[in-house]
Amino acid sequence: MDDEWICGRLGEDEPWLLGAVNPPVFENSLFTFRTAGELGEAIKDEDERYVYWRGTNPTVDLAQRKLAALERGERAKCFASGMGAISATISSLVSAGDHVLVLGAVYGPTTQFLRYLEKFGVTHTHVSDLAGCDSAIRSSTRLLYFESPSYMRYEVFDIAAVTGWARERGLVTAMDNTWSTPIFQKPLTLGVDLVLHSLSKYVGGHSDLVGGVVTGPSRLIRPLALTEYQLYGAAMSPHDAAKVIKGLRTLPVRMAAHQERGLAVAAFLDEHPAVRVVNHPGLPSHPGHAQAKAQMSGFSSLFSIELDTESREEAAEFLDRLRHFRIGVSWGGFESLVNVPALSVEESVRATMGIPVGLVRLSVGLEAADTLIKDLGLALEGVGRLA
Ligand code: PLP
Repeated sequence: MDDEWICGRLGEDEPWLLGAVNPPVFENSLFTFRTAGELGEAIKDEDERYVYWRGTNPTVDLAQRKLAALERGERAKCFASGMGAISATISSLVSAGDHVLVLGAVYGPTTQFLRYLEKFGVTHTHVSDLAGCDSAIRSSTRLLYFESPSYMRYEVFDIAAVTGWARERGLVTAMDNTWSTPIFQKPLTLGVDLVLHSLSKYVGGHSDLVGGVVTGPSRLIRPLALTEYQLYGAAMSPHDAAKVIKGLRTLPVRMAAHQERGLAVAAFLDEHPAVRVVNHPGLPSHPGHAQAKAQMSGFSSLFSIELDTESREEAAEFLDRLRHFRIGVSWGGFESLVNVPALSVEESVRATMGIPVGLVRLSVGLEAADTLIKDLGLALEGVGRLA
C-alpha cells in the first residue's frame, strides 16, 4: 500500500459510501438502536461502536484509518486540536508521582501543559541530549517526550537511538511528528510508541482546520480513547474529519512542492550576509543534515533564520517590510507566513527553548519561490543595521 493510495482511496470502496467520491459527513450527534439490549452492548464497547459523537463517528473513523495506515500504526485517534491530542496522550501515560523527560525544544504549550501537570504531582525535566537523559532519569520516570526536528531550531535527533535508550529503561516514548508529516517521516517504524500531529498544519493544508491525532498500538490507543478522549471532550467533529480527508488527498503532492520551495528560499537566505544562521535540516550546512537524510524521506518548508540583531524592534521591522509573506502564527498552509517568537512566545518558555531575539520563523507556502526570495531580499536590505 503506497502513501498516495492510502491518502486517496483507503477505506473508500466500502458499501456505506455508495460509490460517493467523497465520503458522507455523518452529522448526527447520536446513534439509535432497535432494542435497549443493543444499546447496552454498544456502550460496553464504545471505542469500536457508534453511540455518541464525543466518542466515535464514521467520518472521523475514516480519517483515523488513513492516518494510522500512513504512520504504519495499528490505530489512530483524532482530536479537536493538536493540543487536545498532546494533553490527552500525556495524561493517559502518567500518574501522580511520575516524572517525564523532555528531550530538546518542544512546542511551547506542550511545555506549559507539563508545567500545569505539576499541580497533580507530575514533574518533568528538560534535557538536550541522551547524556542529559542519563543524568536526569529517575526511578519515577515513565515517559520520554520529544520532537524531531525540534521546535524552532529544527534540531534532529537519532530517533532509533532515542527509542532504543528509552526501551532499555522501560520508558514509553511519544513524539510530535507535525513538522515532517507522515509523508516524510514514520517514527513508529523507528521504535516510537506514540506519534502525535497537529493536523492544523500541512495535513489540513488550507488554514481552515484545527485538529490533532495520536497514532500507535491498540494497547495504548484504546485506553486513551475510552478515558481521556471521552472525559476531556476534545473530540474531532465530522466536518473537520472531512477536511482532514480532503487535505490528505493532496498531501503527498503538496509536500513535494513545499519541500522544493522551502529549500530554494532557505538556500537563498543561507548566503545572505544579514542572516547569521539558517535552521533548516534539509540544508547541508545544518548539523543534523546527515541524520535527517538517514531517517526522513523529505523536508517540509518550516524553518527559522537568526538575523544579525539583538533588537526586537529590528526583527519586527523586518516582518513589517515583507509584502508577500504574511505575519501570523501557525504554519503548513498554502500561504507563506512569518513570525518572530520573541514577540509572541511567553518569555520563560522562550528562555527554556533557547530562542534568540532575532529568530524569525518562516513557513514557505505554495507560491513561486522567486517571488518569495525577492520579497525577503528587499525586506532584508531595508532593515536598518541589517542592510
Ligand atoms: N505541535 C506543534 C509542533 C505545533 O507547532 C503546534 C501548533 O502550532 C501544535 C503541536 C498544536 O497544535 P494545535 O494548534 O492544532 O493545537
